[in-house]
Amino acid sequence: MAQPYSPGKASGFLGACAKTDRITTPSATRLGKHRWKAGEGEKRTITVKYRPSDTILRYLKDMKEALTEALAQAYASAKNNNLLVPNPIALRRKVKPWFDSQYDYARHHVNPLCRTAVALLRSYRKKHSKLAVPEIRRLAMRIDSELFRVTTNGDGTVTVRVTLKPFTYEHITFTPTHRKWIEYGKGKVSEILLTDRKLCITLVLGFDGGKPLGARFTGSDLNFTSVDSTALSHDKLEPPRTLPLERIVQVQNDFSRKRRRLQLHVKNPDKRARKLSETRGRQRNRVKDELHKLSTRIVRENPGTSFIFEDLKCIRRNGEKREATSSKKLRVYLNRWPYRAFQRMVEYKSRCRTLYVSPRGTSSKCPVCGGILEHPAWATSRCRKCGVDYDRDRLASLAILQRGLRLCRYPFTVSAGASWQPLRNEYLYAPGERNAGRAGWTEQAANAPNRKVVNNFHEFPHF
Ligand SMILES: [Zn+2]
Repeated sequence: MAQPYSPGKASGFLGACAKTDRITTPSATRLGKHRWKAGEGEKRTITVKYRPSDTILRYLKDMKEALTEALAQAYASAKNNNLLVPNPIALRRKVKPWFDSQYDYARHHVNPLCRTAVALLRSYRKKHSKLAVPEIRRLAMRIDSELFRVTTNGDGTVTVRVTLKPFTYEHITFTPTHRKWIEYGKGKVSEILLTDRKLCITLVLGFDGGKPLGARFTGSDLNFTSVDSTALSHDKLEPPRTLPLERIVQVQNDFSRKRRRLQLHVKNPDKRARKLSETRGRQRNRVKDELHKLSTRIVRENPGTSFIFEDLKCIRRNGEKREATSSKKLRVYLNRWPYRAFQRMVEYKSRCRTLYVSPRGTSSKCPVCGGILEHPAWATSRCRKCGVDYDRDRLASLAILQRGLRLCRYPFTVSAGASWQPLRNEYLYAPGERNAGRAGWTEQAANAPNRKVVNNFHEFPHF
């Protein structure tokens, strides 16, 4: 069977389940975790002269040798693959066994080694318009943040402790004389470059909490076929908005149909695999394009706004857990469109800080009165205390807004606000009317061979 398209399969989408709300942006933690990419923020480098110890010199010479080997490996791999320079991770797969057998240095050193080899090959090709192995002359090695620690001593000197081998350290102490030391020192140290004469410390400035909170807040609930939003500015609720996502749903459906056809009709396994991966690539591009348009639009239409999203890290995992009981169709839906990618786009396009709240219970507790919500049908949230059926998605966006405000120590009680009463009808469930815009969903639901699929949805905490 065709695998459902799932951009969320990458590990980045499936981090640990966040139990509590967090105000930090995920990009900050991303920078800390993935050294392969530099991430956001401005980089500044401070250079210090020092005298290397014999151990460091030995290490630098070994790394020069290792870099030569990594370059040779990368070059060989490019030769075999249409002159395509491998990415650092692919190269590491090749170099690591050799590195581990050759040296007893800490194994992390292989990461910057492979990155450097790839960068050297690429820049050589750029400069000379042909691919060849450049000669390494200088003794220099980049070291990732896992392998060193910078501490300020009582007397104002600074010590950099470098882990060369596990539990074996080299200490480099210097007196900071750089005039920007204090200013740059506030940044996060991302890596150091060690040569036989100098030490370069790279700091990343202003990636953490750099954006201010907006004067307006928008809680957005991301669904299969729509983005529902509720905004609050100056203590006043604004009418909820529903942004239909027919385009994305359509692209996903078109491509999954196309892939099913390929699975059935292309008999040659090699050709089938190639065709399938081509289709997957094209689908990814189309979806990405749609997401960019959508996120740009939503950011432009909401200037000066802090967006509030659900921290959806654990949603897919919940879906997996229930695999045994839930139908395949349901899982396909859960993986249908890349919520996280969308959130990330809004986050970097917006000029205000984006907040993430816990999705736990957003569809089981009434944001108006605090009562328990029931879901007699997929699209409705029934509150017995309020005595009405709400539109599930719009009510969820209200709940998300409320949580985000609480996160900013700005409690907001819906029913107490004067702006709630005139807007209340907008949140009530209106069969047919608004849902007509959600063609993708209603059509799918109506055509679903198994009605149970539809009934199953309310079991999910998020939906
Ligand atoms: Zn209620």
